[in-house]
Amino acid sequence: MSDDDLRFDQQHIWHPYTSMIDPLPTYPVDSADGVYLQLSDGRRLIDGMSSWWSTIHGYNHPTLNAAASEQLEAMSHVMFGGLTHQPAISLSRKLVEMSPEGLDKVFLADSGSVSVEVAIKMAIQYWQARGQSDKCRLLTIRNGYHGDTFGAMAVCDPVNGMHELFSGVLPQHLFAPAPHLGFDGSDNDEDIAALETLMEQNHQQLAALILEPIVQGAGGMRFYRPDYLQRARELCDRYNLLLIADEIATGFGRSGKLFACEHADISPDILCLGKALTGGYMTLAATLTSTEIAETISSGGAGCFMHGPTFMGNPLACSVANASLELLQSDPWQPRVERIEAGLQQGLAPCAELDSVADVRVLGAIGVVEMKQPVQMASIQRAFVDQGVWVRPFGKLVYVMPPFIISPEQLEQLTQAIHRVISTQQDTK
Ligand SMILES: *Cc1c(COP(=O)(O)O)cnc(C)c1O
Repeated sequence: MSDDDLRFDQQHIWHPYTSMIDPLPTYPVDSADGVYLQLSDGRRLIDGMSSWWSTIHGYNHPTLNAAASEQLEAMSHVMFGGLTHQPAISLSRKLVEMSPEGLDKVFLADSGSVSVEVAIKMAIQYWQARGQSDKCRLLTIRNGYHGDTFGAMAVCDPVNGMHELFSGVLPQHLFAPAPHLGFDGSDNDEDIAALETLMEQNHQQLAALILEPIVQGAGGMRFYRPDYLQRARELCDRYNLLLIADEIATGFGRSGKLFACEHADISPDILCLGKALTGGYMTLAATLTSTEIAETISSGGAGCFMHGPTFMGNPLACSVANASLELLQSDPWQPRVERIEAGLQQGLAPCAELDSVADVRVLGAIGVVEMKQPVQMASIQRAFVDQGVWVRPFGKLVYVMPPFIISPEQLEQLTQAIHRVISTQQDTK
């Protein structure tokens, strides 16, 4: 890639959350294969991020490639209004079958954020159809992340999500304290009591509780106890709130269960899926709900559910998603995730001894090193690339969620690189 191209990139192209005055460096990638990203300058990096939770089977997978090329020959896209096709039907069948009990109606959305918008609309239309249109606000927990569109942003953590920037524009929802840290932590009666108080006082206006089950992702990389989720489910039933589980990050094995809701043995009323759905090949998401909710919505004033994006049910994306889910079912993902969990625990343990580190935590194929101070993004990113790994921290969080196919040796390289980079960053302070 020429210097001119890179300059153009810096001067004309927005990257996620970047400045157009003082952009951070971007690294040109030519190709990717297995766990590796191939940079234009010849360096090869182990991808610790799975391109943000998504490439669970690794890059350039022959099965996923074949599914994409085959579908391309048939049709890459047709509108979903009035038409249907095998890829969408096969995919929806699989999702109904593999997802938690009771979720049997599928809305195929085009990105994670859109699937959250769809979930919120479903909850609001549901209560409207039942003649309770006052129930139109949402309850959520702090440190959440649900996407960047307006509806989704309004339920992201108000501090991380910078709600003050959009005050007056964002709908005002209710925020319960985040449950205490720790999948195996001490009991969280206080956390639940706070959630219950908000429900008790506001249930007449509340349509749903939306949360990320067990693992809070981009809002803090926090894990919490399954019994919090169990009790939240019970409270939703008691106070007539729908439960929306956002499993866009956790879905498809990442937390050690196929869906994180399984840790608590609960079913949500509405489930959002995305990210790893196509094995990271392209954008696709889904919102699942129950027959009762779907039929209630359809019996309301509008007579239908009010959403329908142009690229809904894109056949190319559905075909790759089908192939990805088949791989997940035929490959032993669970032992792989368990092996990664053990490897992360062992490999990241030495980080806990560094003065600059506040906490190290691991769940499933997710490893987090929380620093005491925010990292220097440009320099730490360069240091990781120099060590041959792709790790992209934010704020105080250095975290990885590698592809499930990562080998023990590659995982060791990844965790050693993290320890080395964090130690030297500490020395340069
Ligand atoms: C990434 C993410 C989203 C948003 O998905 P996009 O595809 O980026 O729109 C929503 N919720 C959670 C939990 C996520 O991790």
